[in-house]
Amino acid sequence: MLNYSAILFDFDGVLCRDRFYTHTLIPEYQSIVDWIQKHIFGDAELCARWMRGEIDSRGINNTIATACGVESGWLHTQFLESVRKMKLDEQVVSLVKELKIKGIKVGLVTNNMDVFSEITVANHKLSKLFEVIVNSSDYGMLKKDNYGELFDVVLAQLNEDVQNTLMIDDSSAVVELYRKKGGEGFLYTLKQFSQLQKFLLS
Ligand SMILES: [Mg+2]
Repeated sequence: MLNYSAILFDFDGVLCRDRFYTHTLIPEYQSIVDWIQKHIFGDAELCARWMRGEIDSRGINNTIATACGVESGWLHTQFLESVRKMKLDEQVVSLVKELKIKGIKVGLVTNNMDVFSEITVANHKLSKLFEVIVNSSDYGMLKKDNYGELFDVVLAQLNEDVQNTLMIDDSSAVVELYRKKGGEGFLYTLKQFSQLQKFLLS
């Protein structure tokens, strides 16, 4: 029997594995996707600023459009459409629902971009699934920033103490940080779904 009163889920790599841009730009614009992969997602500091809300998606798309010689408005539309086409991992969604039935509070905490709050939350009715959703770009900090202050934000909203909680994340650095803060961490990869299910529901 689980003794956590709240469980936190990461988004990318746990609830979703789809990538930005790919659903609309591949195969026709593979070269733009390659450029984005190298110069945007390959630039950790730029992505960190995007996920802290210091730059918005329109600004990112302006940069890409200029470099790749395409129209910025067109690219932004393709980008938004690709975000709308992202799919969730339904087996993880079912697991979240089962935890709620057991009376466990569930929260979502994600290093993410403006479009997560603007599109993804409504698109997948995430506010119905999770009691609390905390997106880094709405708070100007990543999970690792200020000794994990983003976790303090989500725990305060859930009215929970860290020691009664579990964070499920695909980043070992995040899991380590969460353990340092006094919570439990589960380092997740897709291969471990059955193990996670067993751990949470048996
Ligand atoms: Mg992740």
